[in-house]
Amino acid sequence: MTAAQETEVPRARPAAGTLRLGLLGLGTVGRALTTLIEEKGLGIEVKSILVRDPSKPREGPVTTDAARFRGGSYDVVVEAMGGVEPAASLVAHFLRRGIPVVTANKALVAERGEELAELAAAHGTELRCEAAVAGGIPILDVIGRSLRAATVHRIAAVLNATSNVVLTRMARGLRLGRAVEEARRLGFAEADPTLDLSGVDAAQKLSILVRRLGGLLPYEQIERTGIGTVTPIDCARAARLGYALKPVAWARLARDSAEAFAAPALVPKRGPLGRADNEANCVVLSTDTVGDLSFSGPGAGGRATASAILDDLAAIARHERAPAPLPPRPLSPRPAVTRWLLVLPLAADVDGLLPLLGQVREVRELREGGLPVIAAVTAPLPSERIETLRTLLRPVRAVSDVRAFRLLED
Ligand code: NAP
Repeated sequence: MTAAQETEVPRARPAAGTLRLGLLGLGTVGRALTTLIEEKGLGIEVKSILVRDPSKPREGPVTTDAARFRGGSYDVVVEAMGGVEPAASLVAHFLRRGIPVVTANKALVAERGEELAELAAAHGTELRCEAAVAGGIPILDVIGRSLRAATVHRIAAVLNATSNVVLTRMARGLRLGRAVEEARRLGFAEADPTLDLSGVDAAQKLSILVRRLGGLLPYEQIERTGIGTVTPIDCARAARLGYALKPVAWARLARDSAEAFAAPALVPKRGPLGRADNEANCVVLSTDTVGDLSFSGPGAGGRATASAILDDLAAIARHERAPAPLPPRPLSPRPAVTRWLLVLPLAADVDGLLPLLGQVREVRELREGGLPVIAAVTAPLPSERIETLRTLLRPVRAVSDVRAFRLLED
């Protein structure tokens, strides 16, 4: 079907108060959405649901026939299937027909959001994606609607629920593999959790947040470190020093540039990010007008995500238009400069180590099994300098390991 033919598909008016919904996907999110629609009775009628596997038993107007689904009459389409294709082509198809689309898919929004938003505008409709970032926390709406006059110069957030569940379990002593199994058992990790554990998912969400603030920073340009090398000992040491190890997504925004990373980082245990455990997400926005604003809540799970989708649907039902996106301001990526905590377990007491480290602001000494462990807070440094320090310390025989994490204290 050509684009011209697609725009010709008739769009009958809905019965008063009824929103005819086309749903792409009936997995964790799609199922939670249909349940919530039934519970809340918001006058939404699920007309058709596209799925992939015809052998799965399920109820409702389900089809595996994509062509049939594409030709249906809807007032709104929800995309909850995941991945970039065929999701992007399907979303584009409905936007060309002038039908608003709500998506929960951060990969789609991070990779194709700009192009799809333009397509929506060209066809007098909209693409909404509140559910794509921070689950049930309506952070995109807050930024788009309320923070108009403020300049947000920093974002510090926990955006990936899978990694947060895993690190929360590791803080209780589980090793990585067991913690991932637990996250899977609880429904917070996919069969292949690579995108979550590697920081890609958090970087995609951070890129969407930055875009909502007017900046254009593709997620590929965000420095990423996964949680794969974190150990329960790292988490225990962090706790002894008053910190929590969290999967942090962070950006410092300037007019034309940005420093940004998604990586395991130390945050004060009793601060907003440190208190976000398990599947909770938290976003702290530092502004020039009101200082820091923190938002926390459930960051994943079918119900929290479906709740955000439902809010977008309610807005569409009330004919509320989403705030116009700010014109994109390309940001050139710069190395993210933060303090670090270097933890050096030593095989023996050694003198003369600290001058080697240079740039150290504060040192604490712990003892583990009678042996010293040096915990040194560095001056603000980029990750490259930490690698140089590692190289410098490698030949020192008394240093049995070098653990280094970014440290965010304010
Ligand atoms: P899921 O459980 O894997 O469900 C995906 C659904 O989409 C399934 O019903 C699947 O069909 C269908 N589907 C996938 N590819 C398809 C294709 N090519 N053609 C037709 N149907 C297809 O995924 P989910 O957890 O619900 O996540 C959906 C989206 O929400 C993703 O973008 C995810 O990132 C986002 N999200 C999820 C959460 C969460 O907590 N789960 C939170 C926030 C955002 P079958 O059932 O036949 O396999």
